Amino acid sequence: MSECIFCAIADGTIDATIVAEADDWVAFKDLHPQAPTHVLVIPRTHVPSLAQLSDPDLARALLLACAEVAEDQGLEAGYRVLTNTGEEGGQAVSHLHFHVLGGRRMGWPPG
Ligand code: 5GP
Ligand code: ZN
Repeated sequence: MSECIFCAIADGTIDATIVAEADDWVAFKDLHPQAPTHVLVIPRTHVPSLAQLSDPDLARALLLACAEVAEDQGLEAGYRVLTNTGEEGGQAVSHLHFHVLGGRRMGWPPG
């Protein structure tokens, strides 16, 4: 089994509620949702964080995937996409993931 939990979700070794997927990304429900809709969008390949994302085609695919997921999830009223990066950025899982949050009004500034 992969030592990276999100690689394991991407290859099906660990279960997750997948809501959408394509050749280069997977979107699944967060285990501990912070909003009525909370989906994580990850690349299938192991990229540790946004700081190591160098493939422009993958970057494009991931960002468009976030918008596609938000539309599929019915978030017409608005939503937030974010990626925590590094220790001070609050990143707990070292496999790049975009949070797609919606279904409630978002506060600003974030904590
Ligand atoms: P981070 O803090 O790294 O930006 O976010 C990691 C996210 O991954 C958290 O929101 C956490 O709830 C979620 N998470 C951690 N482990 C799992 C898991 O095994 N399955 C799913 N679906 N989400 C997970
Ligand atoms: Zn990984």
